[in-house]
Amino acid sequence: MNDCLFCKIAAGEIPSAKVYEDDKLLAFKDINPQAPVHILIIPKAHYESVNALDETSAPVVGDIMLAAKKIAAEQGLTNGYRLLTNIGEDGGQTVKHLHFHLIGGVKLSEKMV
Ligand code: 5GP
Ligand code: ZN
Repeated sequence: MNDCLFCKIAAGEIPSAKVYEDDKLLAFKDINPQAPVHILIIPKAHYESVNALDETSAPVVGDIMLAAKKIAAEQGLTNGYRLLTNIGEDGGQTVKHLHFHLIGGVKLSEKMV
């Protein structure tokens, strides 16, 4: 866990372009944006992915959804946006700390989902 990139970002040890923070969550701009708005929302606590959540920790996903709604409004995404989380190798997860991508600012492809 000490080597986790997003734990280091959450701790302020690695800089990020922060857009939202509260006691449980941090949101910052993705370093390699796939759309005009591409923000990552993470819990400050380390969970590898959705697969690591249990009944006690799962409510953090609801917190992330509500933060996403606020951030999307602040970013002016009045016409919609996409929220997604990758899980494991086949899901394309490269950073093993739970995160949701908030993507928008353009009409997104309908190909995948
Ligand atoms: P994943 O592929 O795991 O779902 O998403 C990881 C995301 O983290 C990628 O979109 C990647 O661009 C982003 N990322 C990787 N390293 C950094 C970093 O050091 N800073 C920021 N802001 N984003 C990062
Ligand atoms: Zn972590």
